Amino acid sequence: MKKAFIKFSVILLTLIIFVLQCGCLDQEINSEISTNVTSENSIKDYSENTLDVSSENSFEESEFDENYEVSEEISEAPIELRTSFLACPDNIIHPSVFYDALERAARDSGKEPDYSDLHNTEYNFTEIYKNVEDIISNADIAYINQETLTGGAGGKIIGYPCFNSPMAVADTVIDLGFDVINVAHNHMLDSRDTEYLEHCSEYFISKGADVIGYYPNAESSQNITVINKNGIKIAFLAYTYGTNGLRISTDSEFIIPYFSEDLIKEQVKIAKEISDFIIVSCHWGYENTYKANDEQKSYARLMNELGVDLVLGMHPHVIQPMEWMINENGNRTLVVYSLGNFVSGMVSGSNMLAGMLSMEIVKNIETNEVYIESPVFLPIVTHYVKKSRVASNDTGYRDFEIYHLSDYTEELASTHGVVRYEKSHSTTLVGGKFSKETLLNTLYKYIPLEFLPEEYHINVQ
Ligand SMILES: [Zn+2]
Repeated sequence: MKKAFIKFSVILLTLIIFVLQCGCLDQEINSEISTNVTSENSIKDYSENTLDVSSENSFEESEFDENYEVSEEISEAPIELRTSFLACPDNIIHPSVFYDALERAARDSGKEPDYSDLHNTEYNFTEIYKNVEDIISNADIAYINQETLTGGAGGKIIGYPCFNSPMAVADTVIDLGFDVINVAHNHMLDSRDTEYLEHCSEYFISKGADVIGYYPNAESSQNITVINKNGIKIAFLAYTYGTNGLRISTDSEFIIPYFSEDLIKEQVKIAKEISDFIIVSCHWGYENTYKANDEQKSYARLMNELGVDLVLGMHPHVIQPMEWMINENGNRTLVVYSLGNFVSGMVSGSNMLAGMLSMEIVKNIETNEVYIESPVFLPIVTHYVKKSRVASNDTGYRDFEIYHLSDYTEELASTHGVVRYEKSHSTTLVGGKFSKETLLNTLYKYIPLEFLPEEYHINVQ
């Protein structure tokens, strides 16, 4: 009886201490997360520690001090919150990409493709992304740069230079599980006003996605997108170097987020006050250039100074390096200068190599420290073959599919539609002609090994 009574007292005291500690948990964590932490971590730690006490110490010897030590152990245990993040780069729907999707949908339903009304027809874009759909849907937060707007029926479905992509593209992006859609890029004014921008952004918003870089008025540019996921508040900002010479009319209320030190400082300041972690999408750099230019580096330094955590570069259509940038105050920023194209009907081999950025955002709720863990550049290849053209703006590229570079083969590379165009373009793959080997050479030359998946470490001499 005496043993049982002491055991009961030990458990009761430990419980009281534990409950008191729970009350001190960071108040910023919402109640849902607080429940998770309590149920999944703390209670687990508590029961394990209690078991340790009962097995290692005899209860006759247990005194209050020993119980106190047990509770100290609980408070020292690291309690972390985690959010997985995936970024996919430029989703560029050239005519060959949408004609391919149209023909796939016709094949699916056993009909002849009908090219007469590109707004009102079936498309199958899903097939393009089938090798990467799991990784997208598994991420807590998935970002994509939707480079070509789904502008709606107000304009023709068309490609370069002023794109208007079928609405089915937006549905596919949503169905794949993308949460954050970037529209701050050089094609955001492709309707020569804000019609496509508004139509595309409002559609994504109506589907529950967060659209970044979309500011219909000055007030909205102060209302920064923050996603609270797993108890970590992540802010998103987005800037573009330009809009292909197209400008909004002077009486428009829209704010187009061009790179500007003043705008960046103002928005990062707001973001810092309301979030734990800041991601900035940067549409910048020279097209078809493997190295970051001075402007990219200088804006990256500014964002590092301001305390931005991740700089996500888009636009050059080829990969560019990534690096940790650390300033004298210890600010640490992961800078990815360019991830290349997610999908495109571009013509050079160098435009086919790209990356998805995968990482974990971790928050220690005792210290409030938030940091990046396991940042990985996941190499991908856009594959297509050459078939016949069905329109004057169609290159005839078909069977678009994104492959993980690790699954890509020399055999597939030898059938790639890009091969015959390689020599006419100045930005080539390292080693020349399009092949798995030259894709790998290029990857190793520009992406530091520390950011590549384990399997890529083995191949290096
Ligand atoms: Zn661009």
